[in-house]
Order: sequence, then C-alpha cells, then structure tokens
Amino acid sequence: MIFTKRLILLLTLIALSALAVSCISDKPASGETTSEDHSIKSVDGISSVADETRTEDSINSENAYSEETSDEVSEEISEETSENAECFHPDGSIVVIDKYTYYDKGLSRFICPDCGYTYDIETEKVIKTGKTSFTYEETAEVLSEFENRYGLQVETIGTTVEGRNIYSCILGSLNSGHHVLIGAAMHGKEYMNTALLLDLIEYYTIGEGETYRGTLLFDYVEDVCFHIIPMINPDGVTVSQKGEATAVVSNFLLDRGIYPENLAEYFRIWKSNANGVDLNRNFPAGWEEYKDTIGKPNYRLYKGPAPASEPETEALMEYTLKYDFDAVVSYHSYGEIIYWKYGNDKSLIEKCRLLANAVGNATRYRPVSPENEVAAGYKDWAMSVGIPALTIETGNVDTPLPDSQYKKIWNENWKVFAVIADWVKNNS
Ligand SMILES: [Zn+2]
Ligand SMILES: [Zn+2]
Repeated sequence: MIFTKRLILLLTLIALSALAVSCISDKPASGETTSEDHSIKSVDGISSVADETRTEDSINSENAYSEETSDEVSEEISEETSENAECFHPDGSIVVIDKYTYYDKGLSRFICPDCGYTYDIETEKVIKTGKTSFTYEETAEVLSEFENRYGLQVETIGTTVEGRNIYSCILGSLNSGHHVLIGAAMHGKEYMNTALLLDLIEYYTIGEGETYRGTLLFDYVEDVCFHIIPMINPDGVTVSQKGEATAVVSNFLLDRGIYPENLAEYFRIWKSNANGVDLNRNFPAGWEEYKDTIGKPNYRLYKGPAPASEPETEALMEYTLKYDFDAVVSYHSYGEIIYWKYGNDKSLIEKCRLLANAVGNATRYRPVSPENEVAAGYKDWAMSVGIPALTIETGNVDTPLPDSQYKKIWNENWKVFAVIADWVKNNS
C-alpha cells in the first residue's frame, strides 16, 4: 500500500546531438565521474525544472546580454535534466535519481538508492528499430549517447587518412581477466555490420531481460570485457555511402590517371581507405608473399606501398596489442562463412577451429579453411602474433547489402557475444 503513493516522473530525454558529439573526446571516462557529481547535478537539474518559468526567465535575461551565454545555459540544463527521475517517499520527501547511475543492468530498470524501489526504464533506445546503416557522423553520435546514458567508455584508437576518428566502445570492465575485440567495416561498402555492432552494444547493455542459455545477456559482458570497433574504415564507408569521392580520393584518382567510366558505381562498391589501399591486405602477415595484381590505388585489393603503411592498419594493430585479447573478430560481408585458419601454430589453429565451430553453431555460418587462404589480412596478422582470430562474413548477396538483409543478419548474430564470452571463459 505504501508503494501506491509512489509516483514516477520520467523527464523527457533531450538528446542534443551536437553536444553529444563533442562529449566523445571531452567527457571524462565514466569511472572518473564521482557519485558526488551526480547528486549535485540531480539537485541542480530538478530545481531548474521545478520552477520552469523562473528558469526560462533567467535564460531570457541572459539572452539579453549575450547569445553565447544563453547557449551555454540551455545546454547545461538539457544535460542535467535528461537522466533524472523522482522517487516520492511516504514521508513526503522526494529523491532525485540519476537513472543511469542506478541502472539495474540487464533488466531495463533502475533502483532508488534510498528505498530500493525499482522502476522500469521507459526511455526510447538510442538505436532506432529498423535502421540498418549509419554514417560516420551518426556512429559518433550514437557512441556519445552510449557514453552519456549507459556510462560506456569510448576510446579513440586512431585517426584516418582524412582525419576521422576510429572509435572503440568498451562493454564491461577494463579490469576483467578476459578481453575480446570485435570490429566491423574495415571494407567501406560493408557498413551494415556497423549497424549490427551498434545494435548489439545496446542490446547487451540494456538487456531487457533477454537471456541466452539461461544467463542474462548483460552478464556475459560483465564477465568478459568487449571492445567494439563499429567502423574501422570510416573514410571508405563515407565514399561508399555518399557515392562520391572525398578530396583525398579524387586527387589520387586524377593524379594517377584513374578515371573509371561509371564513377558513382565505382564509389558505391568502394572497399579501400582514402589512399586506395585495401586495409585487409595491408597487415604484416604474408604481405610480401601476397601477389597484388593491382599494384596501385584502387577501390579494392591494392595492398599498399608497405606492410602497415596505412594509419587505420597501424591503429588497429596498436590497439590489438594494447590489451591482452583472448580473441579478436572482424566482421565482413558477404558469404555467411567464417574464416579461421592461418599460419603453422597447431595449437592456435585448433583453438580457432573450436571458436569458429562455436560461432558457426550459433549463426549457422559455415567455417571454411581454403587451401590458399589469402594473407595480409587482420585475422592473419592477429594469428601471427598468437591471438585467436576469426573473420565472420555476414549476408548472402553482394555488398553494399540491401536493407532487407538486416533482419536475417541480426537473427543469426545476436547471440555471438554470448557465445564468444562462453568460449573465452572456457578456453583461455
Ligand atoms: Zn525511493
Ligand atoms: Zn570485407
């Protein structure tokens, strides 16, 4: 009966995209934000909402002096009020709760720190249902929202030829005894896998009570720390999505006398980075031996002037060696197959075979080990430094994949994080 008196007021979530983007680099890591900060923010936030008129008045009066100040004020209020809710206690007191600080992970609800009452989270997800492709800018915004709402840590692991950032979003604790890296869109036109990974990050974080083999999805990413790089090659993705070349790409095409007949189509099927190098042929593992029949910048298959010549390759290698990864996975398209073999290390190859079988059972994709497996890829390099690695190929028609492929890909892949987490815990 006590609880019937309780009311919940969920304040409108105001997503300020511009602010959100700037937060990616500026915001301190979630661990650095103290709970003291939150309680101060909550109080400020609620007082500015409780007397809306006065708040607006104060903004207006600021406005009279300078527009810059007015922007600052409104941004601050939006950020402070967006995460808060109120818990009305029987004694008449009201406790302001930062929903995501007191988020009951995996169960779409938050808990009042004072009375322990739980409330369902009623906010919309960041990822809109049915959205199957994300631009570089949209990806940055989504990651920033993940950072703000769910306290996920986002690292910038490097910068591309054209100056875009390569982001890694961390699920779970960096202090975990297990780490897994999962990346996508190393090839420009294979950007549907960016949508898959962004979707998976939120699905495993919110959880919504979903389980796999009786365990909450969220618990899988509690035990094993997942480092998700949704867009390894944002320059290449941008060329493919916009169907037009950026300055860097145009210049090298013209400089080298390359001017394909159908430029729009040439860009749409772009796989390389902005230097026209195929990143998955640029890694220092069998690079010398790999016969590059192209030999010059191209939309695909040019291995570059030297192994690891490209900033994206370098960034990914550096990041892969930064943590003690138990496994790394690179999502590509298409084929519904899994590549798992490289080199001569028998025990490593056996590990990869088992991992490929586990992921294959979950996705129904076929593990393959061609006789002449092409080298100089990320998986090959990772295996050459002793890390179990897979390449997973989603989709069953040519890329860029049509939107209609997404649902099938989701159904095949939603449990992959859980399967890999289980495998890692049992095999390393
Ligand atoms: Zn309460
Ligand atoms: Zn690919």
